[in-house]
Amino acid sequence: MSKFLSRQLESVSPYTPGEQPQDKGYIKLNTNESPYPPSPAVLQAIQSGEVENLRLYSDPEARRLKSAIAQVYQVAPEWVFVGNGSDEILNFAFQAYGKDDGVAFPDITYGFYQVFADFHAIQAQVIPLQENFSIDFQEYEGLGKMVCLANPNAPTGIALTPSQIERIVQTNLDHVVLIDEAYVDFGAESVVPLTQCDDSRLGVQTYSKSRSMAGARLGFAIGNPQLISDLMRIQFSTNPYNVNRLTLLAGEAAVLSGDYYQKMCQEIVKSRTWTALSLKNLGFSVTDSQANFVFARHDKLPGDKLYMELKKRGILVRHFPVPRISNYNRITIGTQKEMETLVAVLQEMIL
Ligand SMILES: *Cc1c(COP(=O)(O)O)cnc(C)c1O
Repeated sequence: MSKFLSRQLESVSPYTPGEQPQDKGYIKLNTNESPYPPSPAVLQAIQSGEVENLRLYSDPEARRLKSAIAQVYQVAPEWVFVGNGSDEILNFAFQAYGKDDGVAFPDITYGFYQVFADFHAIQAQVIPLQENFSIDFQEYEGLGKMVCLANPNAPTGIALTPSQIERIVQTNLDHVVLIDEAYVDFGAESVVPLTQCDDSRLGVQTYSKSRSMAGARLGFAIGNPQLISDLMRIQFSTNPYNVNRLTLLAGEAAVLSGDYYQKMCQEIVKSRTWTALSLKNLGFSVTDSQANFVFARHDKLPGDKLYMELKKRGILVRHFPVPRISNYNRITIGTQKEMETLVAVLQEMIL
């Protein structure tokens, strides 16, 4: 830190991403990437002359990508915003909707929410989840501030139903309710079809998990056109060309490859079911995850020790050294073969 850094930023603790080792020696189950490649249409879209076209700026309005997303989600293009990863969209939304009255989110959730709140000097009301990591809905009635919920939640994988979200939206109609749907394609229900019911519901999704494009950095939001224009106001005040040309093309091809990705998601869900059951058979407690990961703890193995022992054996998982969940590890669902290796290694460690 230099002596020149603003005092407000001094106190921000940046987000700690999962490890991204640059050698290929690990079975990598720590950052919820897909084990499968993007659809063949994506590979086609970014070959050929497109690299030459990098001399040109990208379309700041992302018209082709937005209309492809709009077509698939059955909304008009004005209902769609695209960002450089959904993290950028979350950042913009906190800035747009949290500053005046603050923001509320659960204690156990995506760690970036607290970082964005600190970064923008936004008051955060952190609402503890219940003992079993479910939401106490009474705590979310009429909060008088923006609400941000991951559905399914991270890192527990536990999903909310549309009617549970409805309850929160209906008592908070004077503020934005942001639903972060990074994992929605693995089994939860999206709020996107319900965004037309009111002007405060914003669904945010990413290409990083179910669409195998974490490295391309692409996310989108769907909501009332006035919300979308707020987000564009921030985009055009900071970085108008926020999504690069190759990613725009890849994103368009991917969203139009619905059948391919549906199959990949089904594979992952199948392996998730198998993995959760196998872990239970080894004595793990596992949450009811609707995401592309499981969240597990074992009474005989502290969470940090499990993480380290797996790493020694070439398997990376995610451990969060924070209150309430430090005995858990979040394990991404890889290929079935990778999960079988994981379970075999765990069996050896435990027996
Ligand atoms: C992975 C993740 C994101 C970020 O996705 P990017 O599009 O890669 O920025 C956002 N929210 C949650 C809950 C996530 O797990």
